[in-house]
Amino acid sequence: MAYYNNKREPVPEVETSIWSCTSDDCSGWMRENYSFDKEPACPLCKAEMEKEVRTLPKLD
Ligand SMILES: [Zn+2]
Repeated sequence: MAYYNNKREPVPEVETSIWSCTSDDCSGWMRENYSFDKEPACPLCKAEMEKEVRTLPKLD
């Protein structure tokens, strides 16, 4: 059995609601919990965003 090291536990991942940029050229996204607007604009390109679910490292 191999371990990365003893100091770091693996971060558990959870399905998380996010906003994803609708622009094909842009990879902008943000966690839904971190957006304050009901329908936020992309922080990178100001395009519309749509809801999506991604598996992301859990935040405490
Ligand atoms: Zn964008």
